[in-house]
Amino acid sequence: MESASTEPQLTEPYLTTVLANSGLGVDYVRAEGNTVFHLDADGKEVPVTDYCGGYASLILGHNNAELTAHAKAVLDSGIPVYVQFSRHPAANRLAVKLNEIVARETGATEPYFTHFASTGAEAIETAVKHAEFDRVLKVSALMGEIEGHVAQARDAAREGRLTVADSARVKAAAGTPSGSTAASPQDALEHLLAAVARHNGEVAGRPPVLLALEGSFHGKLMGSVQLTHNSGFRSAFGGLGAQAHFLPLDQPDVLTKAVDGIRARSRVLDVVVTDGVADVVERDFPAFCAFLVEPIQGEGGIRVLDREAAEHIQRVSAAADCPLLIDEIQTGLGRTGAFLASSLVGLRGDYYVLSKSLGGGVAKSSVVLVHQKRYRGEFELVHSSTFAKDGFSTAVALKVLEMLEAEDGAAYRQAEERGEMLRAALDRVRADYPEVVKETRGRGLLQGLEFHDQSGSGSAVISSAARSGILGYVAAGFLLGAHRIRVLPTASAPNTLRFAPSLHLTEEETGHLETALRDLCALLRDQDEQRLAG
Ligand code: PMP
Repeated sequence: MESASTEPQLTEPYLTTVLANSGLGVDYVRAEGNTVFHLDADGKEVPVTDYCGGYASLILGHNNAELTAHAKAVLDSGIPVYVQFSRHPAANRLAVKLNEIVARETGATEPYFTHFASTGAEAIETAVKHAEFDRVLKVSALMGEIEGHVAQARDAAREGRLTVADSARVKAAAGTPSGSTAASPQDALEHLLAAVARHNGEVAGRPPVLLALEGSFHGKLMGSVQLTHNSGFRSAFGGLGAQAHFLPLDQPDVLTKAVDGIRARSRVLDVVVTDGVADVVERDFPAFCAFLVEPIQGEGGIRVLDREAAEHIQRVSAAADCPLLIDEIQTGLGRTGAFLASSLVGLRGDYYVLSKSLGGGVAKSSVVLVHQKRYRGEFELVHSSTFAKDGFSTAVALKVLEMLEAEDGAAYRQAEERGEMLRAALDRVRADYPEVVKETRGRGLLQGLEFHDQSGSGSAVISSAARSGILGYVAAGFLLGAHRIRVLPTASAPNTLRFAPSLHLTEEETGHLETALRDLCALLRDQDEQRLAG
């Protein structure tokens, strides 16, 4: 199955060796629907059923005929693909359509404005960057207001119409100035103002607070990797960006306490003058940049956020005025039976980020939706990308939406039904091999199967693969070699296999998968390392 090329391996040579060693180094030459093909020794096509689905970017399948026909027609029409700094009506039509769908599913009555990008991580960074821009403008408005109050107090003191309150709040803020009883009101005020400026400068100088959930995956670029929980991906790059606070998904009290603690530590001081007496008050400070949430953690092992957890996150974020950024890069575009998986658990975002299936498997595209109440038009002048909002990917994405929405959303119902069929097959395997399969979970066409820890296996091959965290990859190599099934573990939970086929998953394909998984589970149970290693 490996390429017989004699060319030097100049692209990811290390990874190429790893793939070859785990039986995954295959050269796929063609793809259609849920099937990818490689060639055998005689040059004949070997079909492989693909459950990776382009890491969940192929809700319509590989090379969907209707979509590729549209893509070809778009190119044949000679539309301008790159005309930056012009009107882009196709992109706007896409934004309007996205708004219609989001309004239908979430009940939103105000619009979301859109920014386009090319990849998932880029869109996450665009969204976070917008949230930070909004936060910084709020900080500067608040600081401007406080400065105005300070100036008023100074004016009043200069005119001899002001004393400083002998309040506990003033003492807490400024301490007691030396010789305070003798100091003039003006000196006392300046002493207080210096303390206020010091405190506020310290609070405002802190990095923005970014919240994410343990197990989250939001990308691997300089900024987005800070929001990806897996320390293997993140830890070497901590010096490159603001650090996130990772909060547990299943411990609401910890989440509340963490957010309340940050709020309490992030108050700034304002000076108020009432009847000629200057006092200080604490004010809430916009410390929170964003709280990023995946409705189903994809790379984290297909962990579904339930309605209760969603409601809690919504409440805590609203109380802290922390923008909620819903990452639907993997879950969006109908995969879970709704356009937005978050809508199924009642989660409402200030931001939504979509990518993957938005490009229909033929274009690279991503989009950020920003709720009107958070939107800053000035952002449009400070953020752009050469390739964002291009004529080709937006025309393709619009067609993807039309296909999903056709016949009153038949695609969503199909995702739900086929997802149930897939899940039932996984559940049957789990029921028959409880010593091998720990759990099955997911929603619609995003399902996971987690193995029990096999590090205690009597087989040296199985136990050592389990101990080094690569059992999922060994299992994938077996399923490919022995059963022509393409499936891979999730990035941050390698003991969990992800199944993300297209809408067109058939009964026959599902039956084939079930047979293959039963074979895999039997040999793990029987510690048959000979067959596993192929
Ligand atoms: N967020 C989520 C939820 C994802 O699943 C991914 C990709 N697996 C990303 C962000 C990053 O997307 P990309 O790989 O296109 O940068």
